[in-house]
Amino acid sequence: MAIESVNPATGERLLSFDALTAGELDGKLARAAQAFASYRHTSYAERAGWLHRAADLLDEEAGELGRLATLEMGKTLASAVAEVHKSAKGCRWYADHGEEMLADEPWPIDGARVFTRYEPLGPVLAVMPWNFPYWQVFRFAAPALMAGNAGLLKHASNVPQCALKIEDVLQRAGFAEGVFQTLLIPSSAVKGVIEDDRVRAVTLTGSEPAGRQVAATAGGAVKPSVLELGGADPFIVMPSADVEEAAKQAVASRMLNNGQSCVNAKRFLLHESIADEFLRHMVARMEALKIGDPMADDTDLGPLSSADAVKTLDQQVRDTVEAGADVLTGGTPLDGPGHFYPPTVLANIPDGSPGHHEEFFGPVALVWRVSSTDEAVRVANDSPFGLSGSAWTTDEAEQEKFVAEVDTGMMYVNKFTESTPEVPFGGTRNSGYGRELAAFGPRSFVNPKTVWVQ
Ligand code: NAP
Repeated sequence: MAIESVNPATGERLLSFDALTAGELDGKLARAAQAFASYRHTSYAERAGWLHRAADLLDEEAGELGRLATLEMGKTLASAVAEVHKSAKGCRWYADHGEEMLADEPWPIDGARVFTRYEPLGPVLAVMPWNFPYWQVFRFAAPALMAGNAGLLKHASNVPQCALKIEDVLQRAGFAEGVFQTLLIPSSAVKGVIEDDRVRAVTLTGSEPAGRQVAATAGGAVKPSVLELGGADPFIVMPSADVEEAAKQAVASRMLNNGQSCVNAKRFLLHESIADEFLRHMVARMEALKIGDPMADDTDLGPLSSADAVKTLDQQVRDTVEAGADVLTGGTPLDGPGHFYPPTVLANIPDGSPGHHEEFFGPVALVWRVSSTDEAVRVANDSPFGLSGSAWTTDEAEQEKFVAEVDTGMMYVNKFTESTPEVPFGGTRNSGYGRELAAFGPRSFVNPKTVWVQ
């Protein structure tokens, strides 16, 4: 079966790769197990050195790597290059802080030396999405490699060139052969890899259905899993906020990555006293965005990742409008070539419509008017997802209420959510479980071994 690289801005087929045969896959798993047997005995200083070298390579080659991401998945070139530099930052951060996060942890027992030692698990499978083709992988790989694990990457099928580049960068950085490998396999082969004895854990970043399947397989095999799934993040605006600035940030968050980030603000919960003013600014800003070639410096919004992505989003919008939502701008896919969808704002989202309970993975803002903080909390929590959220208010009591009562893994106040190595990242409910980044990243894939020396 072929794995294809297609330019979503033009529809042009760039390259085609053969998926690994069963024998080739087995060889790679054997190599991972073999590499882990010696890699686990390397020192933190050695691992940090290789991560620093990887960071330098990423920075040096950011232009070329960024271009590849833009070609394969359509994000703007500037954002792709920034993503590569961010991946370098992640590598450096774990190189510099990983050892202290994984140091033996003593426990106070009289007359004995008792501590927890964090041991690596073995080869860990990472099933990753295309939307941040480098950052998603490095935010797993840097902490997992620092902890002494081997990495196996099953990247999304539309970014095979990025996937191969990541393996190449880590090898050139000095990680021994087999410590980090890309597996060009279809998603149907993931189950067998998780069940293979040589693979000790799995992490998936992607959609809820994929997460459910991977977690079920991991559960059946009694292996740990981390799930980073979808989101429908609320963006709550109260009367004390700077409304124009909040609208500007709302558009920036919703349009990030051509509207295809798990933590884009997706649902806008506006206090009724500022809703009209906010929407005036939001719609004007949405309509001013330049749509087009993601390689061009002045493009704000590139294509969606595929023809299927446009089709899915279009159907969700149509069904929501048919159920009674109002279209304030956009709402219809743009003509080809390329897979473009315009900035869109839908208001008065009916309960039970797709806008009410599905993730819209594209540049579509969904708007509710609320009359109180209680109603804002109720609407924020009226979603199957619990990834992140933001609240825009200068009132400290309101800030505390939203932090305490909105059921998400992350809550930002007067700032929209970002994924950065210093801060834990992950969700509640159907957005998944487990955390990446900060100290949670390296500790997700370790055996915390209790040691008692009498
Ligand atoms: P997706 O279809 O779930 O794909 C993600 C990865 O899972 C790909 O490598 C895919 O491989 C694989 N996959 C799909 N179905 C699978 C299955 N049944 N078993 C095993 N692996 C499977 O996700 P997407 O639609 O491309 O990506 C967007 C989703 O990811 C959104 O829901 C977004 O919110 C979420 N996301 C979450 C985070 C987070 O940190 N929480 C970050 C970014 C994105 P193939 O490509 O070969 O199908």
